[in-house]
Amino acid sequence: MDERAVAILTRARPERITTMLVSQWAEKKRILPKGLTSRPGPFRFDETPYMREIVDCLAESSPVREVALMKGAQLGGTVAVLENFLGYIIDVCPGPIMAITGDKDMADVWMEKRVDPMLQSAGLSHKIFAQIKKKHGHNTGDTKSAKEFPGGFLLSYGPNSAAKLRSNAIQYLLLDEEDAYPQEIGKEGDPISLAIRRTDTFENSRKILHISTPLEMSSSRIHAAYLAGDQSKYFVPCKKCGHMQTLKWDNLKYETDNHKNLIYDSVHYVCESCGEHWTNSDKANFLRDAQAGGVAEWRPTAVATKRHYRSFWISSLYSPPGGRSWESLVEEWLEAKDNPIKLRVFCNTVWGEPWEDRLNAPDHARIMIRRDLEPYASGSLPPSFSPLINTLGADVQEDRIEAEIMSWSPGKISASISYHVLEGDTSDLSGRAWRGLADLLSQDYAELPISLALIDAGFRTSTVYQFCEGYASGVLPCMGESSQSYGKRLFALRDVPGFATQRVDIQTRQLTSELYGYLQRGYPSEGQDFAPGYCHFPVDYPEKYFLQLIADKPVKKKTSAGVRLYYDPGSARNEAHDCRIYNMAALYVLAGAVSDEVSPDAPIPWELFWTMLMARAA
Ligand SMILES: [Zn+2]
Repeated sequence: MDERAVAILTRARPERITTMLVSQWAEKKRILPKGLTSRPGPFRFDETPYMREIVDCLAESSPVREVALMKGAQLGGTVAVLENFLGYIIDVCPGPIMAITGDKDMADVWMEKRVDPMLQSAGLSHKIFAQIKKKHGHNTGDTKSAKEFPGGFLLSYGPNSAAKLRSNAIQYLLLDEEDAYPQEIGKEGDPISLAIRRTDTFENSRKILHISTPLEMSSSRIHAAYLAGDQSKYFVPCKKCGHMQTLKWDNLKYETDNHKNLIYDSVHYVCESCGEHWTNSDKANFLRDAQAGGVAEWRPTAVATKRHYRSFWISSLYSPPGGRSWESLVEEWLEAKDNPIKLRVFCNTVWGEPWEDRLNAPDHARIMIRRDLEPYASGSLPPSFSPLINTLGADVQEDRIEAEIMSWSPGKISASISYHVLEGDTSDLSGRAWRGLADLLSQDYAELPISLALIDAGFRTSTVYQFCEGYASGVLPCMGESSQSYGKRLFALRDVPGFATQRVDIQTRQLTSELYGYLQRGYPSEGQDFAPGYCHFPVDYPEKYFLQLIADKPVKKKTSAGVRLYYDPGSARNEAHDCRIYNMAALYVLAGAVSDEVSPDAPIPWELFWTMLMARAA
């Protein structure tokens, strides 16, 4: 159908603008069923009053045309904003709707999981039927990706459906979880720009809703959408002094016991003005907006770059009573704060902020100081260190092999045992470089053998495969790959055609991020334990080693998938860095092997791994 034809067909009669707000509609029409929600019964904004103003920007009578909500998890946004908006459109001011979700699979279940229950809860199911009789009678007006109702239709697509994104004029555009979308679709360009162009016919009545938890700063769509709007934040009053403030993570205080477990009763929020302590149960009062008898309110903090554009940001600190408690947020924080990967998730889902890779390479001089804090010589281990398992990582150059031998203890606390430069022509498998490596592999270190060695096969590929074939176990070729994703495990084991060995493909970018996080860990103060990931180095390692270790610098590159962070050594030597990454990958492979689950997305069973090693050592 031609765009204008759709516009004419769906807006044929003169229509009055409804004065009903989306929030009023929801409280009048929606009954939340048991089983789907913790609070069944008539829908009320009392629990999540901060969602009221957002959803009312989407009312027909509001001049606002575009709304962006950047949010943490468990704030009730999907039910209160997205679902209510959909029901309101279908019931009160119908028009063509396109809803785009994270991917095609999500789009398929979206209708079933979100839309159908919402229609039922608002008594709207009877409105969904074919609006135009088709010749063969196949069209029910209600399919997995399309629903028809009087005055409009709802299409649900994944962002990759570029052709579909181009084919209909739409009045209402819902962009759900847009940070999960790809940046570009082949030659078609950006999926969101394509979808937004579809609303041009309805310039004076369209509504565009962006709603997402942010992911990476460098490529975050929702963050860009938030910055383009008026950047509203939710201000709440202090129960004692009345000072209006936004909730900030640093003002949430807690204590831990001797075992570093959270003391639950200690969790409280401190008023930034008078120092009064607030508890999680105070949320029921301070979250209330004017309609709910309180004074909390959204306040813009910027001037929008476009007319009629509102943007909102809210973190999980605001999660209502009955939702995510402050105590449970602190518990998650204690788990995440020393783990760069968990910290990223925490930043996205709790703070509702995009992750900015701040784990730039640390200063080499600061890492070098650690050599002297608990001095030990190459070939030995620091006095405080109890080794449980050894690994080796080797980098193969034309005229030499460089290898690092490492020992590990729980929490991935590591000690470098020794670093070797084995000179010799590496094209000759019987030459002195390879003989030197075989010699290293045959020895014990701190009374433990090397459990797994990973040898870089990127340069002398078939020679490395041949060398590894000579071992029944414990020595594998590896290749680093910075752009590919290997799921949560960060590595993949692959067969090598023509050789009796498997190869380990490694996600080097993630491991480098992790390493640089660990290198930031300082030497513990007296009475404290080493932080997870702490790295010990022998006192005789030269400055050159440390320069190489952090040689890969973070750089942003534009790719077909958007701007992405990479690590690039430029012209600097980085063999020590590579050896370290192969050692880390070897530890991942060993830990991954203790569970039967081999799926790349199965989490590595670290607890089980360390428990087994400690039992072995006992
Ligand atoms: Zn106060």
